[in-house]
Amino acid sequence: LSDRPPRLVPVLNRIDLRGSRRDPRGLLPRAQLDVSVAVERIRPVVEAVHEHGFSAIREATERFDGVRLERLRVPAEAIAAAAETLDPEVRAALLEAIKRARKVHADQRRTDTTTKVVDGGTVTERWVPVRRVGLYVPGGLAVYPSTVVMNVVPAQEAGVEGLVVASPPQTENGGLPDSRVLAACALLGVTEVYGVGGAQAIAMLGHGSDGVDEDDRCEPVDVITGPGNIWVTAAKRLLRGVVGIDAEAGPTEIAILADETADPRHVAADLISQAEHDPLAASVLVTDSTALADAVEAELAVQVAATKHDERVRTALTGEQSGVVLVDDLEQGLAVVDAYAAEHLEIQTRDAREWAMRVRNAGAIFVGAWSPVSLGDYAAGSNHVLPTGGCARHSSGLSVQSFLRGIHVIEYDEAALRDVAGHVVALANAEDLPAHGDAVTARFAR
Ligand code: NAD
Repeated sequence: LSDRPPRLVPVLNRIDLRGSRRDPRGLLPRAQLDVSVAVERIRPVVEAVHEHGFSAIREATERFDGVRLERLRVPAEAIAAAAETLDPEVRAALLEAIKRARKVHADQRRTDTTTKVVDGGTVTERWVPVRRVGLYVPGGLAVYPSTVVMNVVPAQEAGVEGLVVASPPQTENGGLPDSRVLAACALLGVTEVYGVGGAQAIAMLGHGSDGVDEDDRCEPVDVITGPGNIWVTAAKRLLRGVVGIDAEAGPTEIAILADETADPRHVAADLISQAEHDPLAASVLVTDSTALADAVEAELAVQVAATKHDERVRTALTGEQSGVVLVDDLEQGLAVVDAYAAEHLEIQTRDAREWAMRVRNAGAIFVGAWSPVSLGDYAAGSNHVLPTGGCARHSSGLSVQSFLRGIHVIEYDEAALRDVAGHVVALANAEDLPAHGDAVTARFAR
């Protein structure tokens, strides 16, 4: 038996990259249970829903949510009742979040542009909203009325007509989604809501499903957006191609690039705030200051013990996906955060804005001491549905653009086509596709 006191401290793994010139990508903390593993586990659920619809959804819901579904769709009266009984403080906060999000997302609207390529030849880019979208609102370990706002506002600003929300059923709410989630739907005017969660919800949205009666069916959507746990994320990956998918917005990640000017209490609080989402959440500190790293560890010991979801937080912080990365200087730190491509990146350094402007890969960047990730989770006006698992290298967070398609409209007159015909024929012949050239020359044959 050791006579050392039991360690209450969640020890973040330390990865020391000081003096290393290696590419940091393979050295950074990442979860072992990645989406590709989860895909194989939930494939049977997705296939069963595709084949059997309601009965398969009911079976999966019983198995994963412990709820026996009476119907898929939430009755209109239940949505209205949730709005009426909503806590006034939460209502005010949701309305403020909606107002700020609307302001930012309204600025993202696109206008059609017409380019005059030559006299008599134009290309117009029309931005056309998708017809019907499925918005996933998580509700397993926590419930997310804020995510209703983050999904619905950009879809509405894009001009989408068919908005469908799916969120897991809660035993505490009689097998319906959480009442605050329903109230947020009511505040935003969304009436088509399904009390289904997890992979089965994503499959239902993508393939459509029968219900207990005609009014209970779910017609397939064109695009699915929204965050979720690893199972939801895996199902979205499986459905890609059947429908459009925004990005893989899986278990939350926070990376903090900090120097010795950062306040360890804030850094620790922010690392904990995201670890609170999920035992698989990732909290990563990248710093050139061992003094800061030590001070943050000491703060974590105090703050984790006092936080409500201490078990979940401790699991997330001590998991292989979390850690402290020590670097020589902020230049190397920048290379590390770019290689990591975090969903949320905080910059808590001297000249934070300048460093922030040099970052290439992140879902969203939070600059300085007064812009914590929690602000962006709820009420900054920015979107909180963001790419995880390194997907920020190639994907953006949810925006108005996620719900639009740019359609090129091409219109040339006779003279403009005649003028370019030789070039079309030359390229068609070079590709050994002479019928392409013929389609042009046929128009000018005598
Ligand atoms: P969730 O709705 O994503 O998942 C709950 C559902 O998972 C349940 O309805 C159940 O059907 C299913 N499920 C549970 N265990 C399962 C298993 N073993 N196999 C198959 N299916 C299973 O809610 P959650 O669990 O609270 O997770 C929410 C997630 O969303 C968190 O990971 C959080 O970090 C993340 N999040 C991400 C973002 C982002 O933009 N990236 C934003 C907000 C939240």
